[in-house]
Amino acid sequence: PQTHDTDAPIRLTDNDAALAKLSAVRQNYLSDPFIKYFVPRASLQPPRPPLINVGTFVRTVAIDDLVDQWLDLSSAERKKCQIVSLGAGSDTRFWQLATGPRKDCLSKYIEVDFPEITMKKAMAIKKNKDLSAVLGVPEDVKLEQGGTALFSPLYDLLPADLRQDPSVALGSLTTVTGNAPPILDASLPTLLIFECVLVYMSSRESNTLLHWFHAYFSSHGDGILGAIVYEMFGLGDSFGRVMVSNLKTRNVSLPGADPYATVESLPSRFLNLNYSSARALTLKDIRRDYIAPKEFVRISKLEMLDEVEELDLVLEHYAITWGLTTLGSRSAPWDDW
Ligand code: SAM
Repeated sequence: PQTHDTDAPIRLTDNDAALAKLSAVRQNYLSDPFIKYFVPRASLQPPRPPLINVGTFVRTVAIDDLVDQWLDLSSAERKKCQIVSLGAGSDTRFWQLATGPRKDCLSKYIEVDFPEITMKKAMAIKKNKDLSAVLGVPEDVKLEQGGTALFSPLYDLLPADLRQDPSVALGSLTTVTGNAPPILDASLPTLLIFECVLVYMSSRESNTLLHWFHAYFSSHGDGILGAIVYEMFGLGDSFGRVMVSNLKTRNVSLPGADPYATVESLPSRFLNLNYSSARALTLKDIRRDYIAPKEFVRISKLEMLDEVEELDLVLEHYAITWGLTTLGSRSAPWDDW
């Protein structure tokens, strides 16, 4: 019987994210030598509107900054850290980090997405020397599970449906197999990244996921766990309703979009799950207050942006929320994150 694949429109959102990143790179907002390898016929893709480029810039540098701070806090403790990106899609942050100034601080970078997406990504990595060289020698890079999983010393790519029970979907991260320790080392500072993914699952499902990681790290050692969520929110107003209906026409369902969320209420996502602290900022606030002045001036000159009010209207519907949980006795200096 023919089954209707209701997840196909959700997977297609990865394409939007990759095209937006590629466009921001082409227009010199961002520098990323790797994104083009994940976009088919990259050179033929048209640029996105200036407003989208600015949004992509603000979101990317803000998350990069939180990740860099995390790596620096880990180094200050003479520890390497782990990063797990959930719904990673075609994201290139691993390659940027592993070739950047903080590369020695990374112990492991793990990406998870639907099998259709991880298979495409694994193939792109295997096919491209610039991507695969970063993972180590070819003998150390192993494709498994019918080409949907890829394992290497520094980077793993795993297929999973994040709406399912995490102890099954992500169990391979925390279980001991034979003599091998679990992939996730609970004694290392670990950062979870959910960049534009939780909106596609119910809040019950995303809470289960956040709680599962929290429980694993609390029951092992005195680890430090952080999580970054990037999402749209406050979609109950007239502008928000237009954003939702645009996605609905593409059959993308958004069970995680809470129309009543405000930037003040966003941290409760973490605080309700016993994370020790959490903060949230809208992209509008980040653009205004947190972009380095030189960068602000530089990007303002890249393209004509005739509707600054419209830009603010879009940016105030996106937020970055980050939560921290310090499971041992120490919390300083992590509290400043
Ligand atoms: N995080 C990437 C970025 O920001 O560039 C990709 C974002 S894209 C908008 C959303 C991604 O989440 C897609 O790759 C999609 O396949 C993935 N995703 C959504 N729901 C998922 C689920 N239930 N399980 C696994 N992956 C999921």
